[in-house]
Amino acid sequence: MKFVVGFLLLWLVFGILEWLFPLNTKQKHFRNGWLTDVVHFFSNHILINAGTYLFFWFLYLVFHGFVSRSLQLAVRSQPAFLQFSEAFLIAQLVFYFFHRLSHQLPFLWRFHAIHHSSAELDWLASARVHPMEMIIVNLAIAFPLFWLGFTRETFGAYLLFGAILPIFNHSNIGFRFPVLNKIISTPEFHHWHHSNDAEVSDKNFSGFPIIDLLFGTYYVPDHEMPKIYGIDEYIPNSYWQQMLYPFRR
Ligand SMILES: [Zn+2]
Ligand SMILES: [Zn+2]
Repeated sequence: MKFVVGFLLLWLVFGILEWLFPLNTKQKHFRNGWLTDVVHFFSNHILINAGTYLFFWFLYLVFHGFVSRSLQLAVRSQPAFLQFSEAFLIAQLVFYFFHRLSHQLPFLWRFHAIHHSSAELDWLASARVHPMEMIIVNLAIAFPLFWLGFTRETFGAYLLFGAILPIFNHSNIGFRFPVLNKIISTPEFHHWHHSNDAEVSDKNFSGFPIIDLLFGTYYVPDHEMPKIYGIDEYIPNSYWQQMLYPFRR
């Protein structure tokens, strides 16, 4: 029930913002693929949560004997702010490199291509991800944090932030964010990542652009936005076909 309320609230808030301040003025509200993305929105969180939980416990059973209690104790005895900052930095770096690899390794790209198949972007397009990709990302972030001794509370705030940021940075909102672009991933920043131009789409991988600035993949020109989104690769339109797509070749 809370996801229905959440969906309606997001639809209302972002629907109004995208209607009042559209980035792409010609884009229809019920764009192509809108219904598919609604299915992604409702089913993915169940599949992602269940999958992450299941695989996390599998990894725990296999590896929990190898953790260093003294290291975990040292991590946990730090002040909360320090723990949070460290966990945040580790999570961001893992996300950045995983995302970059997803564009380079064909095996990972098969899953990530689903997310890049949207030819039009709005807040709901953020829901279009293959659950398997998100399960792997979550595990790649959560398991090292657990192994090092960070508590669930430490990265709880990060998870909340991680859920809201994509909704914002995919939205069809035409504000310019000259300063914010360098701090968090804004629509201006992330839309370039979805540009259907190979040179530009290999930019802006992070949730925190400072990481892209550090590794030379930051791209936000002053007075321009992408003309075409999506990829040339054919990705089917239906939810089930998208779920099966990575396993079909
Ligand atoms: Zn990408
Ligand atoms: Zn995206």
